[in-house]
Amino acid sequence: MTAVQVGSRIDVLGGSRRASVAVVDLETRAAALDDEHAATDLRHLFRLPPDVVYLDGNSLGALPAHVPDALRDVVERQWGADLITSWNVHDWWDAPTRVGDRIGRLVGAEPGQVAVGDTTSLALFQAASAALRMQPGRRVVVTDPGSFPTDLYVLEGLTELTGHDVVHATPEEVPDVLGDLGEEVALVALSHVNFRTGRLWDLAHLTGVAHAAGALALWDLSHSTGAIPVGLDRHGVDLAVGCGYKYLNGGPGAPAFTYVAARHQERYEPAVRAWHGHAEPFAMHPQHRFAAGIARARGGTPPLLSLLALEAALTVFDAVDVEAVRRRSLSLTGFLIEALDELVPEVDLVTPREPAARGSQVAVAHPQAYGVVQALIARGVIGDFRTPDVVRLGVAAPYLTHADLLRAARQIRAVLDTGEHLRLDGTRATVT
Ligand SMILES: *Cc1c(COP(=O)(O)O)cnc(C)c1O
Repeated sequence: MTAVQVGSRIDVLGGSRRASVAVVDLETRAAALDDEHAATDLRHLFRLPPDVVYLDGNSLGALPAHVPDALRDVVERQWGADLITSWNVHDWWDAPTRVGDRIGRLVGAEPGQVAVGDTTSLALFQAASAALRMQPGRRVVVTDPGSFPTDLYVLEGLTELTGHDVVHATPEEVPDVLGDLGEEVALVALSHVNFRTGRLWDLAHLTGVAHAAGALALWDLSHSTGAIPVGLDRHGVDLAVGCGYKYLNGGPGAPAFTYVAARHQERYEPAVRAWHGHAEPFAMHPQHRFAAGIARARGGTPPLLSLLALEAALTVFDAVDVEAVRRRSLSLTGFLIEALDELVPEVDLVTPREPAARGSQVAVAHPQAYGVVQALIARGVIGDFRTPDVVRLGVAAPYLTHADLLRAARQIRAVLDTGEHLRLDGTRATVT
């Protein structure tokens, strides 16, 4: 695709000459920005097909290049040769809290406050159930109706069991709702970044608002962990959960994590009590007794192959701190917005333009969003579709360049120009 072809269909903007000038300008800018940010380009630490622009690292992070060898060691030497002795010899037992401390560094948590093991869904259920026990007499859970659906399902199921009421409020409405409901609210459960729009909410402010009403704040950090500094301890967050397979690159089905602020741990009693969270797991007591500290947030036997793959993947963050990842991400998403404005002005930006309100993705609305995504994938630009009309372009900063994002914007232009997005047979894949 040449610059002239790209420009040839946007005559309304002043003709193909102007558009090709725009592309040349953007190419120059992309190269300059890539130079400026060369120190945080960690593409060499990942295995990615050379001709693909991967914009789905917010859904399944790419494979860090050293993980296959690490996993081979776990499978062949640890599982294969050392068998069950690996629980002690290779310290499988402490992996949930060891990996938890590694993740804690990325989200601003001092050691001893993060455990890894279950899915995000179960981690949320556990954390919310413990929060409700800590707040006797308060009957309401406030959550965002725009949350990732599993979070809504989990809270619905949990409150059906406990008899609490769920009140829906967007993060913007939360202060007013808390003003009205005041002392009835036990828990405010929100996502740091909206999975669809990429909007980043003010965690510090909303945590303060929850606390002023006497409520606990539980944050889902699935779309910020590894991409955005969170400052859990600094902002006094009570509880948090997050995903291991997105910006942490832990691999498909990598376990999630749970943060329990040290000051709450003594009273943290999640509903599902499993033996790895017991004070004396091998005493085999018939009665449950919670372990001290963050170990009580452990569940049953964790998925060790996934957990140890996640541990290996996290060493990527030894090469860069999350503040630097965020600076790179803002430059990348800002440049992508600039390129879309210039080359595809007819699509509506869904993600906020203000850097402080932007997560690490750029979402645009298009009536044929599913077709656009499929046509882009056929052209080697992998993003995803989120119902009803969102083309979601995830920007995992460590392995993307400004040049990649210009290529993505140009391919969107080309798809819309050729009409490839309209040539779908009408069936949707199971995973969109
Ligand atoms: C990805 C994601 C999840 C994933 O939940 P699983 O149970 O691990 O599949 C949950 N919540 C949010 C906000 C997410 O973005």
